[in-house]
Amino acid sequence: MNTYNTVVVGGGASGILAAIYLNDSKSILLEKNNIFGKKMLITGGGRCNITNNASFNEYMKCYYNSGNYYRQAFNNFFNEDIIKLLEDNNCKTKVEENKRVFPVSDDSKTVVDCLVNILKKSKTKFRLNSKVHNITKKEDCFIIEYNDETIKTKNVILSTGSDSFPKTGSNGDGYRFAKGLGHEIPENMGGLCPVEIEEEWIRKLQGITMEVNLEIKADNKRIVKDSASLLFTHKGVSGHCILDNSMNIESNLRKNRKVVIYLDLAAGYSYEQLDAILQDDFKNNPKKHLRVYLHKYLPKNMTEVFLEAIGIDDNSLNQTTKQDRIRIRDNLKKMKITVKRVCLEDAIVENSGIMQKEIDPNTCESKIVPNLYITGELIEGCGICGGFNLQKAFSTGVLAACSINGRCLK
Ligand SMILES: Cc1cc2nc3c(=O)[nH]c(=O)nc-3n(C[C@H](O)[C@H](O)[C@H](O)COP(=O)(O)OP(=O)(O)OC[C@H]3O[C@@H](n4cnc5c(N)ncnc54)[C@H](O)[C@@H]3O)c2cc1C
Repeated sequence: MNTYNTVVVGGGASGILAAIYLNDSKSILLEKNNIFGKKMLITGGGRCNITNNASFNEYMKCYYNSGNYYRQAFNNFFNEDIIKLLEDNNCKTKVEENKRVFPVSDDSKTVVDCLVNILKKSKTKFRLNSKVHNITKKEDCFIIEYNDETIKTKNVILSTGSDSFPKTGSNGDGYRFAKGLGHEIPENMGGLCPVEIEEEWIRKLQGITMEVNLEIKADNKRIVKDSASLLFTHKGVSGHCILDNSMNIESNLRKNRKVVIYLDLAAGYSYEQLDAILQDDFKNNPKKHLRVYLHKYLPKNMTEVFLEAIGIDDNSLNQTTKQDRIRIRDNLKKMKITVKRVCLEDAIVENSGIMQKEIDPNTCESKIVPNLYITGELIEGCGICGGFNLQKAFSTGVLAACSINGRCLK
């Protein structure tokens, strides 16, 4: 039976970095897909929001209540380190709005290819098409069964991701392995999820993205006010603002509060300005139809749905009553949609995972099973959108490798 120092299970963001920093010819990375980093390829809308250029202190606030937990992982390997690693290996990066870092190529494949090239240069062995199906703990080692092979190892780094977007490979195997080894996996604690909306008309807007000012209220009390890019989906709405606030929305729904989102679709104008513009435009373009006129504020394929939603016929502007004009103004400024539920099954990133209290944050080693290391999204406690989840995956992967090698980077 082949014997290893360390077996890294899962070749996503976290596992690749762990394997690179192990840099050990007696260690191996096993990935079940026929390529590495399948999930990374779809990140950032295919552009890969690699990390965020925020300061260490800002980072502490970007993981809901668990920023502090990643202190050592970030101390050891932070945003500037992943940027340097990529840049030194010919993957140039750029910083965009809200300090989000992307590859200059705007193509996530460049990032994955770059990391895989670095992996190939490291001493660590790797194997694709290698699905681990069982991990057993013996007194002084682990037995790993993958495909139809059995191997022995002193350490295991579990980097299998969560169970979100299972088509990319992260289908919950890590939870199963950890549970089998004695860890507790709490019930689904949400994550970054889209929401389902009650109003049926919203489904006709699927695929449209819009910049809006939005306000979210629970039982009429404001819980969020933001300007954001909103994405209409087949069930309701998504986009960074919705994803980042979905756990807050979920917690209000659990308390039986009515959660309503108000969209300001004409954010560039005050009520008074919009009123004056509408009056002028209605006077100067009498024959224009509402459906066409409303392109001034709304995407082309949204105007008919907007009129249907507020119950106004597509008349020409001179046939539109004052009452309807005021209703158009009011709904452009404050369109109300009602949250039915948070779509936990469509989480982009899971907040649940192996409980933080069962993992040593200084090493990523399990407190339940010695020599088992847990990294990436498999660790409970996600970050907000903006590159914080990949940074968590990179930093915890590197920390586990450094702990096994017995030397931190900084
Ligand atoms: C649509 C989408 C967009 C995102 N965009 C961003 C973004 O722009 N920026 C950001 O910071 N975060 C983003 N994220 C989140 C980020 O991608 C994840 O948090 C991150 O990839 C987690 O890394 P990981 O290594 O822990 O897990 P993964 O990247 O999921 O990797 C786990 C790997 O383990 C393998 N594996 C699982 N089980 C086994 C097994 N039994 N045997 C062998 N291999 C196995 C899987 O095949 C997979 O390759 C996005 C997520 C999604 C779904």
